[in-house]
Amino acid sequence: MLGDRSMRAAYVVVASIAASAPRAALATPEDEPVFPIAISVAKKDGAPARDDDWIATQIREADAFFGPLGVHFRWTLRKEIAEEHAEIHVRADRDALAAHVEKNVIDVFVVARLEDIDEPGRYRKGVAWTSKPTGKRFIILSGEAFPTVLTHELGHFFGIGHTDVPDNLMSYVRTGGTVFVDDAQVERIQMFSKRFLATGRLPDVGPPRRFF
Ligand SMILES: [Zn+2]
Repeated sequence: MLGDRSMRAAYVVVASIAASAPRAALATPEDEPVFPIAISVAKKDGAPARDDDWIATQIREADAFFGPLGVHFRWTLRKEIAEEHAEIHVRADRDALAAHVEKNVIDVFVVARLEDIDEPGRYRKGVAWTSKPTGKRFIILSGEAFPTVLTHELGHFFGIGHTDVPDNLMSYVRTGGTVFVDDAQVERIQMFSKRFLATGRLPDVGPPRRFF
């Protein structure tokens, strides 16, 4: 418990200074990839749809879950995007975010609300989206998301789909038990991790590093 708490504290500190470089190295094994996450927050009524603590919690949860699998995440960039992106309803609203993606990072867009495109009127907590016009892949996170939604969406980003198995990361069914991924999912996540690194699209930025 103590170890867990001190690790969380470390991540909170890092996330809180996401906009200011440089920072201290974390205790990440040097041979394991650290994927940079760029956050774009849509403005809503003149203010960011969600504050930095909310965002830091999402990233911290994801890093804590994937870390033991040898995949780490670091918040490297934060920017704000226009109010017109605060409410995502139709496919074109999602695709419009592609204009704001950054290079060699995992882009996460934080918006106020995210409507399902197949079931209008139903609101989603998050989605891993590929913009067909551009081929860009990114994650959209609703401001209504609970803290582990980014972790689930990163599962999609790293190539794993939904399952019905209760408490699996990729299942909607939660019993209160420990959330897990099975061996086949781990293999796939690690395969995609290697692929991202090999293509250079999402390079290992490794700690410590200068920021944008
Ligand atoms: Zn999903």
